[in-house]
Amino acid sequence: MISAARTPLTVDLGGYRVAISAGANGIGKVIADSFAACGASVFVSDIDEAALASCGHPGVKADMGLPEDCEAFVDFAVKHLGGLDVLVNNAGIAGPTAPVEEVTPEELDATLRIDLAAMFHCSRRAIPALRANGGGAVINMSSAAGRFGFAHRAPYAAAKWGVVGFTKTLAIELGRDGVRVNAILPGPVDGPRIRAVIKAKALSEGISENEMTDRTVGTTSLKCFVSQQDIANMALYLASPFGATVSGQAIGVDADMQAMM
Ligand code: NAD
Repeated sequence: MISAARTPLTVDLGGYRVAISAGANGIGKVIADSFAACGASVFVSDIDEAALASCGHPGVKADMGLPEDCEAFVDFAVKHLGGLDVLVNNAGIAGPTAPVEEVTPEELDATLRIDLAAMFHCSRRAIPALRANGGGAVINMSSAAGRFGFAHRAPYAAAKWGVVGFTKTLAIELGRDGVRVNAILPGPVDGPRIRAVIKAKALSEGISENEMTDRTVGTTSLKCFVSQQDIANMALYLASPFGATVSGQAIGVDADMQAMM
């Protein structure tokens, strides 16, 4: 039986300076904790001030839906850390759960701004600092929804496919500077967020939450959820020297999903 990882990959990242958007909670916090456990200096952003205050990492309140907040986050991070080696563009919201004809322009706009445009704004601002080191890593959080169509989640899927296109393009642009750019495509990550998504999806399809949970796990070859630590471990690998020749990739950490639920 394969079980999801619960402990951080052990790799020496002493001296690494790492900025993580939406790093006060969820997957972003586990990524921040994991980098710190490997000796890296970490700086996070989040929109949730209470989570920011209790997450145990230095950070700044920033709404990744606003270009000026994205830029301010990167500027604070570079100043606090004294430079930047790794940018983890983690922020992303689920967006609306509804058929396309019922999605409002405001819902579409908010999802695209936070899930896609923020990665552009943060990366754009971070490029001079990454270049100044003679190398570095950008890690963009996509989703299995960046590999499949996802009924009733069109804004999210469109944004997450966009993240892959952005990642592959930025990897080409920054390759000669030694900056590697990759996307992680998590599958069903166990935690409050997936439970909320399952609940909304069950409601919109008129089935029970249990049935939707079974359907979700049933889409994977390994018949399991993924853990937040599994995602963080891939981020550690990609940022570390072990990932030195990995760039422009869209990497699934998804228990081999064969379809969206
Ligand atoms: P989450 O919903 O747990 O949120 C994590 C953090 O994001 C929270 O602290 C929240 O305050 C912050 N946040 C929300 N809106 C923000 C904004 N506008 N600006 C700044 N911070 C904001 O998210 P998660 O499940 O940890 O997901 C993290 C990333 O992984 C997202 O990009 C998500 O799309 C992606 N992902 C998650 C799953 C999953 O199953 N959880 C699957 C695939 C991809």
